[in-house]
Parts: sequence; structure tokens; C-alpha cells
Amino acid sequence: MDAALLTVGDELLDGDTENTNATWLARELTERGATVRRVLTVPDDRAVIAEATAEYSDAFDAVVVTGGLGRTPDDVTMEAVAAAFDRPMTENDLARADVERTLAAIAGEYPDLEVDAEKEALLPEGARPLINHAGLSPGCVLENVYVLPGIPSEMKRMFEAVEGEFDGTARFRTLYTEEPEANLVERLDEVQTRFDVKVGCYPDRGAGHNRLKVTGDDAATLEEATAWLAENVTLAQEP
Ligand code: ATP
Repeated sequence: MDAALLTVGDELLDGDTENTNATWLARELTERGATVRRVLTVPDDRAVIAEATAEYSDAFDAVVVTGGLGRTPDDVTMEAVAAAFDRPMTENDLARADVERTLAAIAGEYPDLEVDAEKEALLPEGARPLINHAGLSPGCVLENVYVLPGIPSEMKRMFEAVEGEFDGTARFRTLYTEEPEANLVERLDEVQTRFDVKVGCYPDRGAGHNRLKVTGDDAATLEEATAWLAENVTLAQEP
């Protein structure tokens, strides 16, 4: 499965908020065997979000969008996703019930909260609603596009409902070495020539080692390539 991540928010582009959603989702998808091909951050701009959603939906098996779900003026993601598929926004009973339930639960804590529940629960026509167990705004799945909230705790909780839908054949193994990166070049080239795998070399100056990540689609080939590297590189302890 090839996937793309689309993180929405001016605050991400300004550098006000660290894009932890992208890193977290990329790791989750990768660990499930999917391959993340793109991570794109876009502003809170309906046309830009719609264009990127349509392009990635065509190009990849799955697209995960986070951010901009509420109903403040800068929250335009749902409408943009609807526009990407040329769908109107419509009332969704399940989403409405979710919003009502949340509002009832927090009424004691926030007695003056002004929320238009009907508007909050609008989803693109034909979308599958995703309940927000950790916040107010429901998410949804439309075709191959998963729309999740921006707040990390809400996003992670909602992802649990769909995590089983992400899988793939990509597997990886990790090795560590203290050999200098420059000295490894030939062996890294060779393992990629001998076996159908990719190897990334990631220096960690603080820890004083290089992390070698071997990735492949065939389990046996991956084991052979990893074994070859382990024999030909001086390994360091796993941290
Ligand atoms: P809700 O409607 O539930 O309030 P939302 O989907 O509208 O959430 P945003 O308004 O886009 O989310 O962002 C809410 C907060 O979530 C931001 O202030 C920011 O702190 C955080 N956030 C948004 N996107 C990301 C991201 N990619 N990585 C980490 N934090 C994020």
C-alpha cells in the first residue's frame, strides 16, 4: 500500500506547531507495512487542500489528512475534501449523534459553549463518519481519504478506528554500526545490488552510531540482505 500524508494548518507552516502528526502517522503506517510516499503540509486554504487531496487520492492507495476539522473560519478541511470529490456537505446522523453526545458530556464543564451541532456534524456526502472519542469534531473516510483531527490526542484516538485498514508488504530491519558513514558507501551499494532492498544510513552524532535501515517487500530477501550486512559491517550494540 502506497500512502500520502496531508497535514493542514498555517501554524505548521509558520513553525508555531511542530508537525508531530506527520511523524507519528508515518511511523504507524510504516510499521503496518504501508509505504508513505509523500508528506505535504498545506495552509488553511480550501482550494489548495482540495487540489492536494484530489491529486494524492488519484496517485496513492490511501491519503491521511489531519487538521482543520472544527467550525472556526480557518477550519476548511472537510469542505475542501468534499470539493475534491465534487460532493456536497450533508447532515450525517451518526456524526450528529457523536457531536450531541460530546456536547452533553461537557455541558457541566462548559455551560456557555456555543456550538452549532448541525454544522459541526456536516460531512461530505457519502462519507463514512469517524467518531471523535477524544474531542468534538467527527472525522470521516471518503473513498481512500481519511480525514482526522489536528489535535494529536484526538487524531491518535480516531486513528485506532481505522488502523486495520492500513497494511502492505514493506518490511524493515535495523542495524547499528560505529563505522564512519564514508567507509560504508561500497558495502551499502553492494547490498542493494545483490539483493532487492533499499538501505538508508542515518547518523546519530549524539549516540555515536549510524543506524542502517534495510527495507524490502520480500521477507526472505530482507533476511538475506540483513544477514549479509551483519557479516560485512562491524555492528554496534542496539541502543
Ligand atoms: P478540533 O476541531 O478538534 O479542534 P482541528 O482538526 O480543527 O481540531 P486544528 O484547528 O487544525 O485542528 O489544530 C488544533 C491544534 O492541533 C493546533 O493548535 C495544533 O496545536 C495541533 N495540531 C494541528 N495539526 C498538527 C500537526 N500536524 N501536528 C501536531 N499538532 C497539530
